Amino acid sequence: MERQFTKEIESLRLGDGETFHGEGILAVTKALLQAGVSYVGGYQGAPVSHLLDVMVQAKDYLDELGVHVEACTSEASAAAMLGASINYPARGAVTWKSIVGTNVAADALSYLASAGVMGGTLIVLGEDYGEGGVVAQERSHAFALKSLMWLLDPRPNLAAITTMVERGFELSEASNTPVMMELRIRACHVRGSFKSKNNVAPAVSALHKLDGPPKEFIYDRLAHPPATFRQEKLKSDVRLPAARRFIAEHKLNEVFPGTENVGIVVQGGLYNGLMRALRTLGLADEFGASRLPILVLNVVYPLVPEEIIEFSKNKSAVLVLEEGQPEFIEQEIATFLRRADVPGKLHGKDFMHMAGEYNLEAMVRGLSRLVELHAPHLDTSSGAAWMKSVQGTKEKAAAALGALPVRPPTFCVGCPERPVFSAMKLVANDIGRPHVSMDVGCHAFASFEPFSQGNTLLGYGMSLAAAAGVNPMSSKRAVAVMGDGGFWHNGLLSGVASNLMNKGDGVLVIMKNGYASATGTQELLSSPPEDARMIAVGESAAGADRTIEDTLTGLGVKWLRTVNNYDVGAMAKTYREAMTTPEKGLKVIVAEGECQLERQRRLKPQVAKNLADGMRTVRVKYGVDEDTCTGDHSCIRLSGCPTLTVKDNPDPLRRDPVATVIDGCVGCGLCGENAHAAVLCPSFYRAEVIQNPSVWDKLMHRLA
Ligand code: SF4
Ligand code: SF4
Repeated sequence: MERQFTKEIESLRLGDGETFHGEGILAVTKALLQAGVSYVGGYQGAPVSHLLDVMVQAKDYLDELGVHVEACTSEASAAAMLGASINYPARGAVTWKSIVGTNVAADALSYLASAGVMGGTLIVLGEDYGEGGVVAQERSHAFALKSLMWLLDPRPNLAAITTMVERGFELSEASNTPVMMELRIRACHVRGSFKSKNNVAPAVSALHKLDGPPKEFIYDRLAHPPATFRQEKLKSDVRLPAARRFIAEHKLNEVFPGTENVGIVVQGGLYNGLMRALRTLGLADEFGASRLPILVLNVVYPLVPEEIIEFSKNKSAVLVLEEGQPEFIEQEIATFLRRADVPGKLHGKDFMHMAGEYNLEAMVRGLSRLVELHAPHLDTSSGAAWMKSVQGTKEKAAAALGALPVRPPTFCVGCPERPVFSAMKLVANDIGRPHVSMDVGCHAFASFEPFSQGNTLLGYGMSLAAAAGVNPMSSKRAVAVMGDGGFWHNGLLSGVASNLMNKGDGVLVIMKNGYASATGTQELLSSPPEDARMIAVGESAAGADRTIEDTLTGLGVKWLRTVNNYDVGAMAKTYREAMTTPEKGLKVIVAEGECQLERQRRLKPQVAKNLADGMRTVRVKYGVDEDTCTGDHSCIRLSGCPTLTVKDNPDPLRRDPVATVIDGCVGCGLCGENAHAAVLCPSFYRAEVIQNPSVWDKLMHRLA
């Protein structure tokens, strides 16, 4: 596991009046327990991973409360888990990264939203949109609209976020509808505090079990025709008005009054950025008092028409700040205002860009236009000066730095996936480049230099399925690369089963590194068992489990090889065979090597203890003999390891920089393996750094 959350787990126990300090996403975790949640599930993904990680690690405490926690194998299983709240008065919460996770969960969500819920359900979405986002840039809002599920977007402030968690469950129960809560990256990681409350042990739970299924069988709770036709009517005729009533009565949206008659309607999640922009323009103070009145939408769907009309009716203009496209909120507001004949001007995407994040610069620019047009008496010269200084800094930086070389993201130092791509590159030099279908996961880094392998990326576990159409029309076998995380998430059925059923061909490389590393090294069905992990320093734990191989064999895969990643020669030989054998059918290479990040975390305390106990400890490092290195850099082009780099040639008669290994080398051995497999040069040497040496070591050292 990426991190130990010992301190955070302690804060889950805080009671009435005590102060919780920490990150937004961890505050949500505490708020779920305060709301009396019966069960929690999810699939980890940034920026909401910590919610589930903490819950999983806090299992002992949750058992005391009777709260069931499930690390689901996909977002679809997490969404389906919410089915527990359809018939029973049990509150449930699940979490995942959106938009990708919401796509995966879409089927179950549609049925859940149709059937409706009795117990409150809250779906905590990591809205990975804008700068720093790593998935397709789409909004979760569309899902709320199409299924008529409610969408919260709380102000990034711990008190506001935790209140919305509680209110979210109540809203869900008052309208029998699942509620989603989107939290952007900044909201998840915003730090702050709030006054906590006692946790509530759920009324229905693992400690207080149900007698059995509902006494009265209610067909209408099944999302199945003809009930679905009635449910569709219920959504708009009963649940939507009930939700709007609850939102208005409990004032879930907030109005911050101002002195001007020009107003701003903002998605709750953008509120902190807006306040900074107003402060920059000299239109707000440090404590949040703004000259322009603001309506903060902590609930972005559904909107309450009366609230929008009331806020807008006496204003000469209103600006809607809604990040991303299309402008769902602005269009709905325009409809409300037009129907009510509200005379003021409505602005939104005409002042702000359509696609991408609303950062500070964008907000300052948009607000300046609003003020210029509708409140020209306001002095915003501080904003103009700030924009000028930002521009000046950018120009100075560009002049000072010149054209910087591109530095694409890459694997961690010593990553076991890098050697596989070295081997694939070597073979491609001989037989030509095949189509490579990539997947979500660390191996997607191989799409960048120096490997440049990866022609498509269609989602988690989808690489083999994405090669299904390419393979029959390619002269070379198409290659699909998938992590063990992607394999269990979706690849086994969408890819392998489909390929076998269709008697497909092609090559699948499964990176068996032991964990879902891209999301924080969470455990998988095939993670090495706990007792197999604490093995001798220097060994890999990834081979401690054969579940993937057994599953593939059971499913009918005939051509299956498991290869140690770091053995580049063996990997290249196996890969070449898979690409060229006349044998038809799917060829699977299980590339085995433990995630280096997890391995280093696992070994660090063990090594520290060994050193403290005075035990002999050996650390391996690689180096380059600068006298032998020719400076052609073919080793760098084959490895891409960040600790294998260049330095000035010490020979005054030679100008090409030589290769060198800098601090940080974890001694994975890839340099040497590559040099050997590609018959490069004899420049690499392997050195052992011995701490607490034995008498024999000392003697050998003296002799040497
Ligand atoms: S997290 Fe693990 S698998 Fe991912 S790049 Fe780093 S070492 Fe490789
Ligand atoms: S041995 Fe080579 S590839 Fe491995 S970490 Fe060290 S420099 Fe990088």
